[in-house]
Amino acid sequence: MNLENTVKFHFAKSTMISDSPRATASDALTGTDIMAAMGMTQERAAMGYSAFLGKMGISHNDRERAIALLAEYALSKCDKVAALRKLGEGIKPLVMYQLATFAFEDYSRSAASVKQCDCCKGAGFIEAEVFTMKTSTPEYAREIMKKSKELGLKVIPSQFENRRSVKEAIKVLCQKCQGKGIISAACNDCHGRGKAADEKLTKEQGVPVIGSCKRCSGRGYERIPSTEAYAAVCKITDAISLDTWKKSVKPFYDQLITKFDIEEAWAEAQLKQITR
Ligand SMILES: [Zn+2]
Ligand SMILES: [Zn+2]
Repeated sequence: MNLENTVKFHFAKSTMISDSPRATASDALTGTDIMAAMGMTQERAAMGYSAFLGKMGISHNDRERAIALLAEYALSKCDKVAALRKLGEGIKPLVMYQLATFAFEDYSRSAASVKQCDCCKGAGFIEAEVFTMKTSTPEYAREIMKKSKELGLKVIPSQFENRRSVKEAIKVLCQKCQGKGIISAACNDCHGRGKAADEKLTKEQGVPVIGSCKRCSGRGYERIPSTEAYAAVCKITDAISLDTWKKSVKPFYDQLITKFDIEEAWAEAQLKQITR
């Protein structure tokens, strides 16, 4: 049994899993077995299992727990990086928590996930200024027109109209997200497939050559720019320059993202062993 299989049991948790045999993905395991196996996995591989459940959107608690565990881990390792070691005792945990939060967002992102539309900031529409022509006919002009009509004279109403152009702010549908406020995190070049035609090789060889997508390195989705994590850290402290971030803190941050992958693999291995 693998982690993926446990997902449906979490959704079923509240409705009680029946203990009848064959109710599970694996015939040999009963609902109770599965619940016990999940509990043991959580115990043995807390960070990886919580991270996985958080990633799958099972519960907000799992996400919080995974981030807290990673922040704790980061705090125990960060003194290896001089710039982080120098942070004040009060600041350090805050910075680690922020890094862990971004690491989780990056880890849990997939081609199927969505992100807030940066064009409309998630609103789905943008404010635009338009000029509209307003016309009005003054009272005296109406009198003149009335009189003229009574006398049987030809009247062209537009000649008596006042025109002014009025600036108005209107809301228009955001074109980038079509008003949804969210856009797919899938890579623009390969649309989440991770594979794309290699233009250079295709030209050279005269036949389509498909390779790993260069834009996303075959991942299928775009990573969260690490500069966003840096910006968040800057809100807590100004002690880390962009240069220092790039040179020493970003590699540390990248390790935190990888840590989730490692821990998830560990949880997977534990679950397999428990349910073998
Ligand atoms: Zn938008
Ligand atoms: Zn791509």
